[in-house]
Amino acid sequence: MVAPSRPLAFVVASSVPPHEPELDDHRLAAELAEVAGATLVDLRDRTAARYDPWSLRDRGDQVSHDLLVERLGEHRPDDHVMSEEGAEDRRRLEAERCWIVDPLDGTYDYPFVDSIEWAVHVAVVENQRPTAAAVAVPGMGQVFATDRAEGPGERTARDKPLVVSGRSTAYAAAAVADELGGQLTACGSAGVKAMLVVTGAVDVYVHSSGLWEWDVCAPAAVAEANGLIVTDIDGDEILYNKSRPIVRGLVIARPEYARAARSALADLI
Ligand SMILES: [Mg+2]
Repeated sequence: MVAPSRPLAFVVASSVPPHEPELDDHRLAAELAEVAGATLVDLRDRTAARYDPWSLRDRGDQVSHDLLVERLGEHRPDDHVMSEEGAEDRRRLEAERCWIVDPLDGTYDYPFVDSIEWAVHVAVVENQRPTAAAVAVPGMGQVFATDRAEGPGERTARDKPLVVSGRSTAYAAAAVADELGGQLTACGSAGVKAMLVVTGAVDVYVHSSGLWEWDVCAPAAVAEANGLIVTDIDGDEILYNKSRPIVRGLVIARPEYARAARSALADLI
């Protein structure tokens, strides 16, 4: 056995064991999303009785943000981080690599133990395009990552195409459902809605109003890795780490429905 080269008391505790190979971006995104998701479940289960729902939402946002920023600082010290809960840092615009994270997407639903409609988003962007990403959906017990893409999943048995939208932005989604001869359903959390298309539980996700890049980046990257067609509401490719980090709506479709969805949306404009 080799003796430690310095007294153990001086070994700084770190979540990165010094001799383990560093995780690649896909695995790092997946691991961070999973750990943040588990931390959020634990926080909710331990403290739900003590906090009112609004305090729990704020705590959840902050705890998950702190964890993601700290771990990214350890694993990728040279990269920038843009988080929904962080202060704007314009140096990100010159950064070669920028992580775009939503520590808790679907904050409203998070305190409700029975709701699956919240998620953790972690993605890294180079030259305005995501190169690795993961979405953890603790309520489904799943972490979806760009290097484990197998989809889109088989459509669950249903007679008509199913279109999902947010709870308050259903106008464009209704037009798409009409065009497909399908039905409309609503769900919170952009990440969860996108993963419902990935798993085959729904066929198209339509969000017609503006979104923040952290709402969209990781879910869109995971969806695209799974063979789904992803665009903004105008049918254009989505770029990230822009000066104004806003996305003009989002459409995620199974390939067989993408053209009809696009045509329904084009008629609206
Ligand atoms: Mg959030």
